[in-house]
Amino acid sequence: MKANGSFKSQKAPCGRLVNGEEYEDHDDECVVTVEVVYECGCQSIQHEYHDGCVSRRVIRHDGRVLVDEMLSAE
Ligand SMILES: [Zn+2]
Repeated sequence: MKANGSFKSQKAPCGRLVNGEEYEDHDDECVVTVEVVYECGCQSIQHEYHDGCVSRRVIRHDGRVLVDEMLSAE
């Protein structure tokens, strides 16, 4: 994964304002994977597939999954 860059004072899924980093990856399974890692430990992972589907997972720093969804292309 390559780092896309870091950010400051963004609102994490838990509601805190924290710094963090964004990573991006490309492979054969998923067209694009974007992963955001917040300083508090929250994570957001998004996969975009060849057919246009997008899956999104948001995990709070205590390990609780807040969002786990699949959006299909229309
Ligand atoms: Zn957090």
